[in-house]
Amino acid sequence: MTLSEFNLIERFFVRDNPQRKDVVLGIGDDCALLNVPEGQSLAVSMDTLVEGVHFLHETAAADVAAKAMAVNLSDLAAVGAEPAWITLSLSIPKIDLGWLQAFSDSLHELLTHYGLQVVGGDTTKGPLSITIQVHGFVPENVALRRSGAQAGDIVCVTGPLGDASLGLLVAEHQLAAQGEHRDRLLEKFYRPKAKVAAGIALRSRATAAIDISDGLVADLGHICKASSVGAIIDAEKLPISDAARKVANEQRVLDCALTGGEDYELCFTVDEDNFNKVKSALETVGVACYEIGRITGKSDVRVIKNGETLQLDKGGFDHFAAA
Ligand code: ADP
Ligand code: MG
Repeated sequence: MTLSEFNLIERFFVRDNPQRKDVVLGIGDDCALLNVPEGQSLAVSMDTLVEGVHFLHETAAADVAAKAMAVNLSDLAAVGAEPAWITLSLSIPKIDLGWLQAFSDSLHELLTHYGLQVVGGDTTKGPLSITIQVHGFVPENVALRRSGAQAGDIVCVTGPLGDASLGLLVAEHQLAAQGEHRDRLLEKFYRPKAKVAAGIALRSRATAAIDISDGLVADLGHICKASSVGAIIDAEKLPISDAARKVANEQRVLDCALTGGEDYELCFTVDEDNFNKVKSALETVGVACYEIGRITGKSDVRVIKNGETLQLDKGGFDHFAAA
């Protein structure tokens, strides 16, 4: 590592970093040394955002940082883990102090909010790409998993679907939107909020859970596959925001709600007898609970609208799908 690289890390990623008691050694040595509290499992997840693939070229540095954090935190939320540490790998084409300042300010705002500490990382020169690995704690044996859904369980989501993918269409000038509706959809696309408190509230209560990154049908499909069950979704029950209804026709909104990704809401299943308990547990953390369907004994995800099964063209986003 060169001196300027070290200065860069000091200047942007060491300062203002929350200091956690479970960090024996943070940034600056060959490894971080970390203590996992007794009785807790360490939940680990990693996501990479590549410019031009995961975010648009013109995206503000603050939004890039917020999204990189949200996609990672959302994975912790999906297992019900409490955020603790991150490592950060940055590939940057050049040292742009303005970009680094805005990126690290936005990153630190979220670190402070969640009490997370950056404990290490890597910095290289290359095409703009951000990888964050997030670490969290969850008491042993209460983590949420994709497996565990049972026929008869209620399928729920924590918030409106489709806003982020409509926001992307707005950002790409493929869809016209004005005023508060435009602001809301762009906010949902650029600044998704991981449902961390909701995930914690669902511990030991939900039978299965996943975060919606690739679209409801695809992600609920993962729950079904892992649980060896199927699901039936009632299109009329899907939570849709006023902004979504306002900017696009019914078909497009439904399409985005079912197969558009990046909403980062949680989709979970719950035994009928536990539904009210789950609903009030979510209410106490200010999160809504929408019942959208049921788990079945079949093996596919079906969507019903006005008594008819919908034909879905694409199940969700897949980077390697044939063109
Ligand atoms: P090494 O060469 O031993 O892998 P580096 O020179 O890559 O170490 O990094 C030196 C220290 O700075 C390490 O503690 C590493 O974790 C930390 N670090 C490097 N890049 C970043 C970054 N982008 N964010 C946070 N910490 C970083
Ligand atoms: Mg290194």
